[in-house]
Amino acid sequence: MKKKEFKINSKNTLDWMVNYFNELNKYPVKSKVKPRDIFNKIPKIPPKKGENFSEILDDFKNIILPGMTHWQHPNFHAFFPANNSYPSILAEMIISTIGAQCMIWETSPAAAELEEKVIDWLKNEMGIPKNWSGVINDTASSGTLTSLLTAREVISNYTVNKKGLNNNNFIVYTSKEAHSSVEKAIKIIGIGKNNLIKIDTNDDLSMNTKDLEYKIKKDIDLNKTPLAIISTFGTTGTVSLDPINKISLIAKKYKIWHHIDAAYAGSALIIKKYQKHIKNIHLADSFLFNPHKWMLTNFDCSIYFVKNKEALIKTFEIFPEYLKTKSKNVNNYKDWGIQLGRRFRSLKLWFVIRSYGIDGIKKILKKHIKLAKLINEKIEKINDFEITAKRNFNMVNFRFKPIKINDEYKLDNLNKKLLKKLNNSGKVYLSHTKINNIFSLRMPIGNTLSNKKHVLSSWNLIKNTARSI
Ligand SMILES: *Cc1c(COP(=O)(O)O)cnc(C)c1O
Repeated sequence: MKKKEFKINSKNTLDWMVNYFNELNKYPVKSKVKPRDIFNKIPKIPPKKGENFSEILDDFKNIILPGMTHWQHPNFHAFFPANNSYPSILAEMIISTIGAQCMIWETSPAAAELEEKVIDWLKNEMGIPKNWSGVINDTASSGTLTSLLTAREVISNYTVNKKGLNNNNFIVYTSKEAHSSVEKAIKIIGIGKNNLIKIDTNDDLSMNTKDLEYKIKKDIDLNKTPLAIISTFGTTGTVSLDPINKISLIAKKYKIWHHIDAAYAGSALIIKKYQKHIKNIHLADSFLFNPHKWMLTNFDCSIYFVKNKEALIKTFEIFPEYLKTKSKNVNNYKDWGIQLGRRFRSLKLWFVIRSYGIDGIKKILKKHIKLAKLINEKIEKINDFEITAKRNFNMVNFRFKPIKINDEYKLDNLNKKLLKKLNNSGKVYLSHTKINNIFSLRMPIGNTLSNKKHVLSSWNLIKNTARSI
């Protein structure tokens, strides 16, 4: 592609992008294609000669787009949102235009220094201690892995990195409701899945601290080494909140590393009244949240905050000859985590925070929470649906429960059928979880474009579809 064509093609692509948001409502939220539909539409061998960009763009529209699920659709309520926004999209365009690889300070000083600054901004707004540092990772999975690796090195006095694991008897504690990324990290750090202890939960699905302390004491008596506690601020199933303050005290008492996974709900801490939930965070060791889930910033963007950055760097830093530089008083983020190569993610956050302002972001989050409250109240008012978990922030957990049906097996099947029918309609996309073994529908309301009219239309569709099956 020549420069002249780039100009024309980018205009056409941009027109398509703007129009996409105009027409988003018309697309089925969840893609309707069958397995292999898309694969079979793409030629077996790549073209030998270069093709025209307009043809490529047409094929994108005709072949690829039907196989996309539309995450920015205002009626997308599955999993957690991966929300974006116009300023974030524009930042992504600039990031890909410059195409920088921001592994060390000198490979783009602005990227490193802007990263430090936007992390400082959010740190102060969210009630994270001033003396903590932070780094932007791709995902929460990487942040939790980073945290556990650091804990392993701190507690072993950096011997595992040198000599490998040697019957260290490490134990990690997390709740039964914790995200699967905790278990994955345990597999990777080499301490064995059997040494991840899943703590019981209370009725509201938060971690039971009595059970936690009981299990820690038991392991100490057995001469095991409690390595870390991973608490969750906003679990994936129901956004339940572990008692972070109590857990921080227990971690301090037994000198155990404490990592807080707030991948989704962490964004809410920008609203001051919620910061009471983490008032003991200064006793913890690390905390992460994903602006790409509920802070208007394109995937991927996950911030990992850490109390002791020296321990983090000591765990990861490595100096091959080709990466030795002499810059002082700078952050070389390659030493703050797993990857060497790094994207210029801070630009997205900078564009988003400046475009909306902290107040603008708060306003959107508050709107989402208010909409979730509205749906929650509507469900409570009728007698053939029930709320299955207490609402936290913008998550509604519920199921269809016709008055005459009490058999749990039948209710599960009914709700599975309802979910399938709703998702096949193309008008809404929800996902499910199990709450005390009950099949339950989840409806997080966190998309940038979701307004009252969309949420009410989703709810009416859910209600009417349920009553028609
Ligand atoms: C979504 C989620 C994760 C995993 O997020 P990734 O960024 O995709 O790795 C981890 N923990 C919780 C609580 C989550 O909701």
